[in-house]
Amino acid sequence: MGKTIILAEKPSVAKELAKALSVFKRFDGYYEQDNYVVTWALGHLTELAEPAYYNPKYKRWSINDLPIIPTTLKSVILDSTKNQFKVVASLFKREDIDQLIIATDAGREGELVARSIMELANWNKETKRLWISSQTKEAILDGFNNLKESSLYDNLYEAAKARSHADWYVGLNVSRALTTKHNVSLSAGRVQTPTLAILVEREKELEKFEGSFYWTVKAIFEPFSANLSADKKTLHITKEQEKDNYLKELENKEATVTQVLNEEKVENPPLAYDLTELQRDANLYLNFSAKETLDVLQRLYENHKLVTYPRTDSRYITLDIVPTLPQRLKALEFTPFGQVANIFVEHGYRKDMDRFVKESKVTDHHAIIPTEQRVDLTKLNKKEVDLWTLIAKRFMEVLSENYLYTNTDVTLQVDKHTFTTTLKKEQQKGWRDISVLSDVVTEIGRTLPYKGEIPTVGDKFKIEKLVSRRNATEAPQRYSEATLLSAMENAGRFVDEKELKRNLSGGLGTVATRAEIIEKLINSYYVQREGRYLVPTAKGIELIRLAPEELTSPTLTAKWEGRLADISDGVEQSSLFIDDIKKETTKLVNNVKNDKSRFEMSGEGVIKCPHCDFAMLSFKDELDQIHHKCQRLGCGYEQMLVKKIKPAKQAVVKTQKLASGKKVMVVKKGKSVASYETTLKVVTPSRYKKRVEHTSYKNQEDSNTTTFADLIKASEQRRKKRS
Ligand SMILES: [Zn+2]
Repeated sequence: MGKTIILAEKPSVAKELAKALSVFKRFDGYYEQDNYVVTWALGHLTELAEPAYYNPKYKRWSINDLPIIPTTLKSVILDSTKNQFKVVASLFKREDIDQLIIATDAGREGELVARSIMELANWNKETKRLWISSQTKEAILDGFNNLKESSLYDNLYEAAKARSHADWYVGLNVSRALTTKHNVSLSAGRVQTPTLAILVEREKELEKFEGSFYWTVKAIFEPFSANLSADKKTLHITKEQEKDNYLKELENKEATVTQVLNEEKVENPPLAYDLTELQRDANLYLNFSAKETLDVLQRLYENHKLVTYPRTDSRYITLDIVPTLPQRLKALEFTPFGQVANIFVEHGYRKDMDRFVKESKVTDHHAIIPTEQRVDLTKLNKKEVDLWTLIAKRFMEVLSENYLYTNTDVTLQVDKHTFTTTLKKEQQKGWRDISVLSDVVTEIGRTLPYKGEIPTVGDKFKIEKLVSRRNATEAPQRYSEATLLSAMENAGRFVDEKELKRNLSGGLGTVATRAEIIEKLINSYYVQREGRYLVPTAKGIELIRLAPEELTSPTLTAKWEGRLADISDGVEQSSLFIDDIKKETTKLVNNVKNDKSRFEMSGEGVIKCPHCDFAMLSFKDELDQIHHKCQRLGCGYEQMLVKKIKPAKQAVVKTQKLASGKKVMVVKKGKSVASYETTLKVVTPSRYKKRVEHTSYKNQEDSNTTTFADLIKASEQRRKKRS
């Protein structure tokens, strides 16, 4: 029998696999011993070929060549990692190697990584699949003892391939159409565009919103307080005079309890984390971006081996995990959860496990939970500790009893006026007790339990004090990463048709790709982070106006997502799906071609380019410095405003106009007076003059001197250099 080659997703994982299998001899690009060769990819080693591969004329971007629809898309070797591809391909050719174990990431992308390498390197011998959910040595060895037939994952691969091809056809064509038509670098995509549209939609709501004020009145009794109410709801008083009248009328009065209603409440513990829920909580409680959460989580999974597979959309575990729970609890011994974990091990934990254990709700991977690896928090950095704490805390909560409490609704009457309040008494803390074990604060805005005695009907209470508060009617909130992740996950609510809602139950994008989509929108300057909020830029707003309408609503993505799921389940042929994608692409491109709109970015901060008069996008860099970048592809002029503090001996207050129209600001700070001098710095000079005779807006379609691809590449490189 020959040797078995194992293909891992990346070097670090290959090293772990080699260690687990005692393969220690290292060569250039692989490990080897008598039975095994362990090698690796570096993420994708292949990519879908650029249009020019099919026809050299596509190197030049021209709207007349669109849509570009090759019959079948070809993969090519990715240039940046071609050496490793050569290593893998030559190992695949070796006579003494007769079996392959795919050990790339156990998910759709991982399957695609391995299969496209196998295809391009012509692997055709026996193939097995390693499918594991933890990176501990036990889990790895267990996985090797239970290798799967690779054919079990054929449909997953088909779906992965169909998804990447669909994204190529749609993304490439629509982006080229928009870019060449408007002479501005504009990109669109199957998931990216509807996600941006969600943000733009909210921005429009916000613009239209007209706020108003109202007042509420609260009476402080001893030992509780109650709100002035009508119809069991806190009264919103719209006129200030009216509010003053209430205060005058109720002052020093006595209230009588007219109704006391008890309600027993039961709160089940939450379910364990899937990736999206964890990204949401980490954004809310730790202020992590979705991408940051995924990165830190990957380290906890891969380097520290403390948590199970990150890219999961399940919040449940399978039956075979149940016997391993005590080991996982014991592993927490030297952590803040250790004592309670020990009590769980010795005295048992939550009995009705059927809430949490559901085979049917686990497809590829179970929920994110701690592994059996003993935890040493001193080996983690602060962010790792914080994220691990969320996961461990949630795991402990899942295994805890219900939270039981009683809500008592009390109604009081003062003449014809009604006051109401709800008093809460805790009966059993249950899972709510877990959060006190760690110092990561997750209980925000919860009503505190009532310590006093519950009143009875007929009791009288004097109004000690009246408090009125002015509130603003609530404007629609901008999305944070946490709420955008929810919106993407529940994209069905943006869709009307019932059938589509069902298909969108998986949401926009997948758990594995949502963080990436958000980052992409930010890196392309369609969205900016403002504190914890995501705000579309003028360019992002304009892109949504110009993009084909079907692509701005989740409906199209919904249809496609449903069919991709069907391909993965083996009930739809990917060739039929791709045929429809090609037709749809043609439609989308024609839609852009026939659209009469022009790129007209407007809004706050948008100024005209001093070289070519085109609109400049204003954005802030990492240091909060304001940049203006001309959006005309053939110009590319970029300037930034540099603020310098000029300490002044005397208070000098004056304004001075700069060429840009900006004024010098004079700011008083404490006792001393410092002035900020704003100067303009050219980041990228304009290329406009040289090309003006060739690429004016009107004749750009016939332009034969400008290669848009080159311009975009150049602007990409400048952007990379900056970041
Ligand atoms: Zn310009």
